[in-house]
Amino acid sequence: MRRMTERIVDGAERRTTSVANPTPKSPAVDTAIAAIAGVDRRASILHDMCVFGHDADSFRDALSAREYTISGMCQQCQDEVFG
Ligand SMILES: [Zn+2]
Repeated sequence: MRRMTERIVDGAERRTTSVANPTPKSPAVDTAIAAIAGVDRRASILHDMCVFGHDADSFRDALSAREYTISGMCQQCQDEVFG
């Protein structure tokens, strides 16, 4: 039992330090984002790329990193959009 918990914690730590996981969205939302941005949001996030073509490998804080998994925007684009 204890061993299983440790493995789950390990997995969670690995996920946060490697490639980000795109948040699940309905296919309609992903299609709309792809139409607006011209790229696939999920594919961009899985390749550590911003949906607007920038590298997305560095974020100011956990909230910005989390926002990236939602919108697919790098720190620079988040700053421009959200101020
Ligand atoms: Zn960007």
